[in-house]
Amino acid sequence: MRSILAASDANLNRIYEAEAYGPLPHENNYWRTTFDAPHFPALASDQTCDIAIIGAGYTGLHAALRLAGEDVVVLDTHQPGWGASGRNGGFCCLGGAHADDADIAKMFGASDAASWAQTQRASVDHVDQFLQDHSLDVDRHSDGETILAHTPKAFAGLQHEQAWIKDTYGIHAPLYSADAMIDQGMCASVNAKQPGFVGALTIPVGFALNPLKYASGLANAVAKSGAKIHGDSPVINAEYKDGLHVLRTPQAILRAKKVIFATNGYSRDNLPKQLKKRYLPVQSNILVTRPLTEDELAAQGWTSRQMCYDTRNLLHYFRLLPDNRMLFGMRGATSASPDAFAAAEAATRQHFETMFPAWSHIGTPYFWSGLIAGARNFVPFAGPLPELPNAYAAMCYHGNGVAMGSYCGKLIAEKLLDQPHATTAPDFLDQPLAAFPFGRYRRHILPLLYRWYSFQDGP
Ligand SMILES: Cc1cc2nc3c(=O)[nH]c(=O)nc-3n(C[C@H](O)[C@H](O)[C@H](O)COP(=O)(O)OP(=O)(O)OC[C@H]3O[C@@H](n4cnc5c(N)ncnc54)[C@H](O)[C@@H]3O)c2cc1C
Repeated sequence: MRSILAASDANLNRIYEAEAYGPLPHENNYWRTTFDAPHFPALASDQTCDIAIIGAGYTGLHAALRLAGEDVVVLDTHQPGWGASGRNGGFCCLGGAHADDADIAKMFGASDAASWAQTQRASVDHVDQFLQDHSLDVDRHSDGETILAHTPKAFAGLQHEQAWIKDTYGIHAPLYSADAMIDQGMCASVNAKQPGFVGALTIPVGFALNPLKYASGLANAVAKSGAKIHGDSPVINAEYKDGLHVLRTPQAILRAKKVIFATNGYSRDNLPKQLKKRYLPVQSNILVTRPLTEDELAAQGWTSRQMCYDTRNLLHYFRLLPDNRMLFGMRGATSASPDAFAAAEAATRQHFETMFPAWSHIGTPYFWSGLIAGARNFVPFAGPLPELPNAYAAMCYHGNGVAMGSYCGKLIAEKLLDQPHATTAPDFLDQPLAAFPFGRYRRHILPLLYRWYSFQDGP
C-alpha cells in the first residue's frame, strides 16, 4: 500500500509523464553495452549515518568521494549512473551555465565572472585528475572541443571567443576557415541548402569519455573510500525531525545528521519542498550509429576525432567514437510519452541525415534520452538549502555537467564540511534557486522557447 501511495505522490511532484523516470528512455542506451557496470544492493534495514547523499550521479558520487573518512551513505533509486551521468554525450568540457559570460558579469559582477571562468577550467582538470589518480580507462579522445559556426555572424562570435580564451586562460584556440575544416576532416552540412559550416574554433580544453564507465569507476572509488552506496533505494519521503533527516525508502529508513540532494533533472518538487518549482528538467537525446567503415567516413569527409557542437541555440553535439560509431545528440521532446519519444527519435534521425547526408543509409541502432536541469537565473546552484537545517543541494548544470557536476559535488561537500574556500568557485553558486512560473506545469514553456530559439537559429 505504501509504495502505491508513493508512486502516485511521485508522479504528482514530477514534471514529466511517468515514462521519463522509467526504463523506456534508458533501455537502448549504447553505453550500457560497452561493459558490465557494478551493482550495489538496496538499503535493507534501518540505519543512521552522519551524512546522507541522495543521487549517485557525478554530483552525489564526487561529494561522497570528497567526504571520504566521514560516515557517508549514498542512496539512488536505481544504480550509480542511471540518471544523466550514465546517458550523456561524454563531453568533458568548459560550461555549466546557460547565461553567457557577459550576462554573468552583468548579473554578479566582474569578480564572480572571472572566478566562474576559472571554475570551469578547474572542473575539467578535476575530472582529469580523478581519472589519472584512479587509473581509469574511459575511452578518452579529442583534444578539447570544436565549435562549428553555422552562420557568418556566429563565426564572428567565435573570433571574439578566441580572443576571450587567450585573455582568460592564456591559451591559443585555433580558428579554422571552411576550407581548413575540410583538411581537418570536418565536412558536415548546416542544412539541406548549405553543404558546409562557415568555420570552426577549437578550444583545447577538455576531452571526450565514456560517461557510464566514468560514473561506474567513480562509484567503485567511492565504495573503496569507505562510503556505503545503496542502489535500488528510492527516497520516497524526506522529513526533518528531532534534528535528523529521515529518509524513507520502500525497504528501510535512513536517518542522517546532514543531507545532500544530488538529484538534478530527476528531482521531485516535494523532495524536499525547498526545491519546489526551482529547477526545470529538460530532455536531451542521443543516437549512435553502427561502426562506420573507412570508405563511409571518407564519403562524408568526416574523419575528425574532435568532440564537436554547432553554434545554434538548439545545438547539435556529435563525435566519432574510438570504434568509428558516430554519436549525435540534440534537444529532446517536450513530453515524455511513448509517442513523443518515437517522434524525438525520428526527428533526431532526420537532423543527423541532414548534417551527414552521406550517412543517410547508415543504421542507428541506439537511441536514448535523459533529463538535464536548468535554473531560472541560468547558472548552477551548489549551496545550502534555505529553511532546512543541515541540507545542501548541487544541480542545474544546463546540460553541461560532466565536468561541472563533478566539480560541484566536491564543492558542496566542502561547503558541508565548512571549508567553502578549499575550491575555486564564484559566490553566485550559493544564491538560492528562484521559482519558475507555472509551477509543476513549467515545462510547458519549452515549446514556446524552442520555437523562438529555432526562429533565431534559422534553417
Ligand atoms: C542525453 C544527455 C546528453 C548530455 N551530454 C552531456 C555532455 O556531453 N557533456 C556534459 O557536460 N553534460 C552532458 N549532459 C548533462 C550531464 O549528464 C548532467 O549534467 C550530469 O550527469 C548531472 O549529474 P548529476 O549527478 O547531478 O545528476 P544525474 O546523473 O541525473 O543523477 C541524479 C541521480 O539521482 C537519483 N535520484 C533522483 N531522485 C531520487 C530519489 N528520490 N531517491 C534516490 N535517488 C534519486 C537518480 O536515480 C539519478 O541517478 C547530458 C545529459 C543528457 C541527458
